[in-house]
Amino acid sequence: MVSHMISSDLSILIVDDTESGRQFFTTALNEAGYEDVRQAGSGAEVLQALDERGADVVLADWIMPKMDGLELTQKIRQQDEEQNRYTSIILCTAREGVENLVFAFDHGVDDFLSKPIDIRELAARVQAAGRISSLQNSLFEAARTLQANNDKLAELAQTDPLTQLGNRRYMQLHLEAILKESSTRDGGTCCAIIDIDHFKKINDKHGHDIGDEVLIGVARRLRRIVRPTDVLARMGGEEFAIIMYYQNASNFRHSIFGRIQQSVGARPIKTSAGELNVTVSMGVCCRFSGDPEMDMDMLIKCADTKMYRAKKKGRNQVFY
Ligand code: GH3
Ligand code: MG
Ligand code: MG
Repeated sequence: MVSHMISSDLSILIVDDTESGRQFFTTALNEAGYEDVRQAGSGAEVLQALDERGADVVLADWIMPKMDGLELTQKIRQQDEEQNRYTSIILCTAREGVENLVFAFDHGVDDFLSKPIDIRELAARVQAAGRISSLQNSLFEAARTLQANNDKLAELAQTDPLTQLGNRRYMQLHLEAILKESSTRDGGTCCAIIDIDHFKKINDKHGHDIGDEVLIGVARRLRRIVRPTDVLARMGGEEFAIIMYYQNASNFRHSIFGRIQQSVGARPIKTSAGELNVTVSMGVCCRFSGDPEMDMDMLIKCADTKMYRAKKKGRNQVFY
């Protein structure tokens, strides 16, 4: 026996309705080098034990009172699916005939041990079953890691790395959803496009790094002015956008945009080149229920056109 000792951290759960059966398997598996061996007296106990802690291998009789091995297999598979893991199942059987085995394989059993049990065969089959579950479980683990990476990438794909605001894509996704949502309601949706005035001069005079600091400073200031539920994004370059949704159009005040526009330029922006005075121009376009339909692109274009009107009128102002 010693030559077949396996040092293994496989977690094994044996189910047998008799104390002597449980003892037989436990002793045999312990002698084969398996230390993590739990016992259950019925299918119900197995499910409860697996709920507390998963197992790599479940060893069960096909014939058991109440819940038989096949029914137990189906329940374990269901539990596995819910918990995103795989448990290898070996059924001990005295049944003869290929048809029964095919039937059981079809029902998700991984392997069989025929009675009377040969102890060396038992150890070998448990080891093979352990390989199956560890392979399956590492696939699940890989899939989870992949999913987490994808989620992270999707999030990054909507974040502007310089200012940590949402980017154009983030704004578009939100605006599209808001317009869809609000089309069946009484509210209104406003889009404001904000562009820093004479930003090129800051770059030219102080360099791009300082320009970047100004962008970060303006983003931070905007973040503090808007409501938490407003969508704020950096559209690109020195251009930002705010999307506001009003459930009730009568709560809407044009003056909110004037206040935001003024607040950005109210105090200089601190940079490593000193404090810089920065102003912005803003164009605002709103669509309230009852207004003609406006899709996302129309709303953005409308706000953008108005922003240029604000520039034309002398900058540092809002145009509605
Ligand atoms: P206006 O008042 O008409 O908007 O003038 P402006 O100088 O702000 O406009 P213009 O479009 O001529 O210049 C925008 C500048 O923004 C040009 C570009 O080099 C700079 N810019 C775009 N993206 C970035 C960035 O990420 N960092 C820095 N530092 N500059 C940027
Ligand atoms: Mg500009
Ligand atoms: Mg611009």
